[in-house]
Amino acid sequence: MIQDIGDKRLANEFHAKSPSSGSIIMMFSGEEILLKNKTPLEFPLYLDLRSQFEKMGRSFPACVFLFSIGEDDYFLACQSESGRAEWERAGYLFSRMFGIRSLIPKERVFAASTAWHLYCWYRDHQFCGRCGRELEHGVKQRVLHCSICGNMVFPKIAPAVIVGVTCGDKILMTKYAGREYKKYALIAGFTEIGETAEQTVEREVYEEVGLRVKNIRYYKSQPWGFDENLLLGFFCEADGQSEIHMDQEELAVAEWVPYDQIPDDENGLSLTAEMMTCFRDSRQNG
Ligand SMILES: [Zn+2]
Repeated sequence: MIQDIGDKRLANEFHAKSPSSGSIIMMFSGEEILLKNKTPLEFPLYLDLRSQFEKMGRSFPACVFLFSIGEDDYFLACQSESGRAEWERAGYLFSRMFGIRSLIPKERVFAASTAWHLYCWYRDHQFCGRCGRELEHGVKQRVLHCSICGNMVFPKIAPAVIVGVTCGDKILMTKYAGREYKKYALIAGFTEIGETAEQTVEREVYEEVGLRVKNIRYYKSQPWGFDENLLLGFFCEADGQSEIHMDQEELAVAEWVPYDQIPDDENGLSLTAEMMTCFRDSRQNG
């Protein structure tokens, strides 16, 4: 899955430090990320970008430390960059976040997804939601605080469930209506305030396909920074009748798929794909 980065480790303890020459700089513009190279996926280094900013006659934006993966330190350039043509002339490219998920090495896809999650949080919390003043960056921990009213804003993660609903040798697979992602998915949805994850499973399955479920078992979780989520995977079984009543606003397809028709997990990235193949393998071997 996206968080499986071999023997390297994500070190996400916060440090108020500045980038050095070899630090990796994550710079975003709209839905895009600045890349040095797409295949293999490579990000610009502080050293290169600083000289590029100098050539453009601009000062380098403020940076905030994000995390380390192995030996690599990742920093976020706080100011969002545009001027696409200028960057392209300099040999860099802006690439849509949606498109990078299938690139390699996977470790850098994970880095981009995690950096994007943090970027969205910084971008959307520049001002205090309580009194409207500008927020300041904490120096001892990752927090934004308001010196006027004392409000403290911590990084925001939205928990959501992914549900493998099974019925004998079949699993319920779906395709979203009106979304860029066209492949098979599983039932999924956000946890509402006041709800347990298991209650989210029951509610989402009922809302999307009209089924009651039983025997809810937790499988695994996955950070999914592309959508600012922590995904919690569950399996469960259809309880009683298995006739599907699909929510047509949410879904384009919802059907029972026999285990031997489940497609291969092509890029080993998502919890959804792993859960599908996990079900297939358990039936094949069982
Ligand atoms: Zn405030």
